[in-house]
Amino acid sequence: MRGIIWFKKDLRTHDNPALFYADQQCSDGVIAVYIIDPFMWKKNNVAAIQIEFILRGLEALKKDLAKIQIPLVIIHAKNTADIPQALYILATQVKADKLFFNQELEINEAHRDTVVNQFFAKQNISTETFHDQLILPYNAVQTKAGMYFKVFSAFKREWLKVFNPIQLLPPPRAYARPNIILSSDIPKTLPNIDSKINPQLWPAGEKIAHKRLHQFIEEDLFSYDKLRDFPTLTATSQLSPYLAVGMISARTCFNVALEANAFELDTGNKGALTWMTELIWREFYRSILIAVPRICMDKAYKLATEKLPWRYDKHLLQKWQQGNTGFPIIDAAMRQLNTTGWMHNRLRMIVAMFLSKNLFLDWRLGETYFATHLIDYDFASNNGGWQWSASTGTDAVPYFRIFNPTTQSERFDPEGQFIRQYCPELTGFDRHSIHAPHQRLPLLAAQANYPKPIIDYVKSRQQALAAFKKLS
Ligand SMILES: Cc1cc2nc3c(=O)[nH]c(=O)nc-3n(C[C@H](O)[C@H](O)[C@H](O)COP(=O)(O)OP(=O)(O)OC[C@H]3O[C@@H](n4cnc5c(N)ncnc54)[C@H](O)[C@@H]3O)c2cc1C
Repeated sequence: MRGIIWFKKDLRTHDNPALFYADQQCSDGVIAVYIIDPFMWKKNNVAAIQIEFILRGLEALKKDLAKIQIPLVIIHAKNTADIPQALYILATQVKADKLFFNQELEINEAHRDTVVNQFFAKQNISTETFHDQLILPYNAVQTKAGMYFKVFSAFKREWLKVFNPIQLLPPPRAYARPNIILSSDIPKTLPNIDSKINPQLWPAGEKIAHKRLHQFIEEDLFSYDKLRDFPTLTATSQLSPYLAVGMISARTCFNVALEANAFELDTGNKGALTWMTELIWREFYRSILIAVPRICMDKAYKLATEKLPWRYDKHLLQKWQQGNTGFPIIDAAMRQLNTTGWMHNRLRMIVAMFLSKNLFLDWRLGETYFATHLIDYDFASNNGGWQWSASTGTDAVPYFRIFNPTTQSERFDPEGQFIRQYCPELTGFDRHSIHAPHQRLPLLAAQANYPKPIIDYVKSRQQALAAFKKLS
């Protein structure tokens, strides 16, 4: 049998179920294909930096596949709807008997995949799809009544109960496969895609991802619980870009951490347990995506919050986007996003709450800005994080959880080091005044040309609380 493996958000050879089983079943050779689909990217607001990262990842994947004699074909889709036909043309060209691919869970992607399956069934070519994006299959973690978990703590408890030791799948072995001569160039750039962010910040490919994982495990895993909230330290793994496009599997990450914790799931080192919990958060948000598909259609998880009178003030939004709000921790965070394509988790929560609770802008405006700027953009985690922060989502704490940016800044950037890195105009401020320059050293703040706060924090907080209270 000869097979096609269709790569999507799984740009790797290790622990890739579709590739593994294609190789196992197809003694007459395997052809890999990736479909460049700018229409899907546009529909999903995917950031240029992530698209460029994918293109660089494809170069690395092509080299890895060449070593095991699997050619990688690139198809440029004219439209998402043309994908079934394009795959079918390839299948007939290479005389393939079967198409293999990993399942995607987001609504547009899942629909596309269903159409491919149906199209191939009509042409009498078989397809086989695999569970891949999660550590545990999404329907493995359910309440006794067969429902989804609404609260993370209960989800995690059940997740740990049903967890089974992970069997990682090896990459295909190198052996003399039938020589299928096919070749495609991987574009270095695409029309209208230009992120302006230095690609050297994010080297692509699964080798880099594995190296990053092992370095993190050796150097930072055991102190993760204590240091992960300090943005000036590189104390988190920064694996999110690699996980988002599948240059490494979540199973691999979890397994390596579990091994470092002597295979203890809920006892042992606190750092390891906390990091594994973050990977379970990733699973939780995906389970919500499947159980509550309206969140893929721009709707709030808590429908009642659709009645909140969100603001749509372009001027305020722009100040937030550019990092000119007059709140140093917000500005440093937004400038980190704009110049590196990534933002520290603590800061994501602070800026998201500031946008939704203090500026009282519709959280979807922030969600879209993140999507179009993050290298690690991932619909479920981004939407989950935004709705959690805006209290329209799964946060078990009611709407009165509102982070004060100044106290958060004092707590998590006590020396102001992170602020100084991204707001150089504040370099001359001491560790106390740097968190609120206009209140604490107004003259120096004016001289430094640092913007005044665009909002009165106390008043805006009261207004948000009143708006939420009215709902309930
Ligand atoms: C408003 C908001 C938007 C977010 N948008 C995204 C996004 O688009 N893509 C994305 O991958 N993450 C997103 N997150 C989650 C989190 O901020 C990032 O996953 C994390 O900062 C990535 O850095 P890291 O790889 O160093 O994480 P680590 O701390 O090393 O964690 C390891 C991995 O666990 C997962 N993870 C960690 N925290 C979370 C979380 N809170 N929710 C879900 N998964 C988590 C990620 O895959 C991460 O790579 C968002 C969070 C918020 C509050």
